[in-house]
Amino acid sequence: MVHVVAVDVGATNTRAAVLERDGRTGDRMEVKTPAGGADPSILTGFLSGLITRVAGGALPDDTAGIGLSIAGPVDIRQGILLNPPNMTFRDVPVTGPLSEEFGIPVRMINDCHAGLIGEVSFGAAKGRQNAVYVTLSTGIGAGVLENGRILLGRDGNAAEVGHFHVDDTYDLVCGCGYSGHWEGYASGKYLPWFFSQWCHYHGKPHWGPDAAEDIFRSARGGDDDVLRFLEELSAINARAVSDIIVAYDPDLIIFDGSVIRSNADLLLGPMIDAVDRYLSLPEMVMTALDGNAPLLGAGVIARGYDTEYGNFATLTSE
Ligand SMILES: [Zn+2]
Repeated sequence: MVHVVAVDVGATNTRAAVLERDGRTGDRMEVKTPAGGADPSILTGFLSGLITRVAGGALPDDTAGIGLSIAGPVDIRQGILLNPPNMTFRDVPVTGPLSEEFGIPVRMINDCHAGLIGEVSFGAAKGRQNAVYVTLSTGIGAGVLENGRILLGRDGNAAEVGHFHVDDTYDLVCGCGYSGHWEGYASGKYLPWFFSQWCHYHGKPHWGPDAAEDIFRSARGGDDDVLRFLEELSAINARAVSDIIVAYDPDLIIFDGSVIRSNADLLLGPMIDAVDRYLSLPEMVMTALDGNAPLLGAGVIARGYDTEYGNFATLTSE
């Protein structure tokens, strides 16, 4: 069994690839994720079509399995996508219908857990036993490696750090419906809203950036107000990272996700400077996998994943 199909379903885009045993990527595709809907077959039909197309019309005979990385929450044991805050799908059975259709095992995992497995298998966490993978993207989340296993929780959603409570100064409601959460402040989706509330609170003119990137561009242009805003953002990011350190005691934290990958020069250093030093600081690095960690992790779990204990396949075992 040489090949696997890996699919990384993001809130915005979905990527799929046929992967070799060593993680080498064969054909790959990236398409828009369907916006949502009440009919669960929209998502499974989309995935089934994408898997077929990326495999060139039919899966290779030696395909060991299909691995799905998906923005949760998920129920990994039932293979159900529950109620993701950034998509409108609800309670979609995913792995059962796909496994029936393709006749091979289909495994599903929360995208941050997939990113962590990608980093342990191919990236900065190789050889580590205790590490945290944090993604700052459309949403915010994490995966925790604890003594070599993924920390799962009840349904496979442990370390939903985007919903850590980080602040009460601004009236910001997160996609999950509650206030004060890290994701409601610092994710790509909510950052422009945080900036508008920040301007209002501090009596600054608000020039209405639509996207997080507009804010970072202004910072690079030397806009004093935006630079002050980024100081406060860094303090908030640091609060969440401090919580991650005391909760999980990692020796490594890896940062990934489009927001921080594109703006590590503005975000990483000030955040680390503001992190609490109660426990000794772990090593904190940017991913070197160029946004592919969740896709690679999905490829790893396609070969086997223990949903009771969080052990995952190693690439040398069959
Ligand atoms: Zn939340």
